[in-house]
Amino acid sequence: MNEKVRCLIIGSGPAGYTAAIYASRANLSPVLYEGIQPGGQLTTTTEVENFPGYPEGITGPELMEDLKKQASRFGADIRFGIATSVDFNSYPRKVTIDGEKIIEANSVIIATGASAKYLGLADETKYAGMGVSACATCDGFFYRKKTVAVVGGGDTACEEAIYLAGLAEKVYLIVRKPFLRASKVMQDRAIQNPKIEILFECNAVGLFGDNGVEGAHIVKHQGEANEEKFDIKIDGFFLAIGHKPNTDIFKGQINLDSVGYIITEAGTPRTCVEGVFAAGDVADPHYRQAITAAGTGCQAAIEAERYLSEKGW
Ligand code: NDP
Repeated sequence: MNEKVRCLIIGSGPAGYTAAIYASRANLSPVLYEGIQPGGQLTTTTEVENFPGYPEGITGPELMEDLKKQASRFGADIRFGIATSVDFNSYPRKVTIDGEKIIEANSVIIATGASAKYLGLADETKYAGMGVSACATCDGFFYRKKTVAVVGGGDTACEEAIYLAGLAEKVYLIVRKPFLRASKVMQDRAIQNPKIEILFECNAVGLFGDNGVEGAHIVKHQGEANEEKFDIKIDGFFLAIGHKPNTDIFKGQINLDSVGYIITEAGTPRTCVEGVFAAGDVADPHYRQAITAAGTGCQAAIEAERYLSEKGW
């Protein structure tokens, strides 16, 4: 038999857990499914120094464990399980967990996050948390006065390179094409920054180092007659080749933008489906911070509470 819940939260990053804290305190008896990566993207970072309230910093996994405990303390029902399909045309909304169990929810908060894209090099895994990062704002501080590389040629890559140039001694921007894809203004800022050296038509094909990242193997004009191989010495390797919002199961059920982010009503977590809200990176291509995700998680829970009370559920 299907299980009926008042508020279903999908995802367990800062958005999902914050939504669970607020929803449980509002007596919505929320049920939260943790998803593929319990704790979300922050569990793959080491030190988090920009989340307010932790003057000495905290590790990503500890922060997520604290958020989880806080949600449990108020009665949120936190479960292992992955949402595998949804039916938002039905009423209540139906969400299938692990391909078998169907939850009927009066309100749904989607907080499935986004995943940074990686190049797919074995060395990215080998040096995870030891010099490889997909978030300059999170980890840039550790590279003050050091040398780093950023991969990508879009707005994110330029923005991250410029941000890192404010901290590091030198920044390589590794761009696979002979031009940047970023907006003109961002291109100009990156090109004019004396600390940024752009390596056009280059691919990073590997990393090396005994104690974390100490350098990258670069190939210029890869696969062409004038192919050239060289190494650069770096302390940090940042990926900025895009993010993929985790929205595959929502295609056709809810409005997504061309990249796949959930479209919400400006300044709110409301989606085009009544009673379904989106919080955190799944609906945010711009800020992608733990604190902004937590903020929208709070908004989503408040919206869910108002929605349920308007309906008298
Ligand atoms: P984009 O998709 O715009 O750019 C991705 C970049 O990564 C491209 O240069 C692409 O190269 C490169 N890339 C992709 N895969 C690989 C690979 N396997 N190896 C090497 N390079 C690779 O992503 P962004 O995250 O930069 O931006 C996403 C959206 O967010 C855009 O619309 C952007 O404008 C917007 N944005 C806006 C900002 C702002 O306005 N301040 C800040 C950040 C993002 P190639 O060009 O060859 O495909």
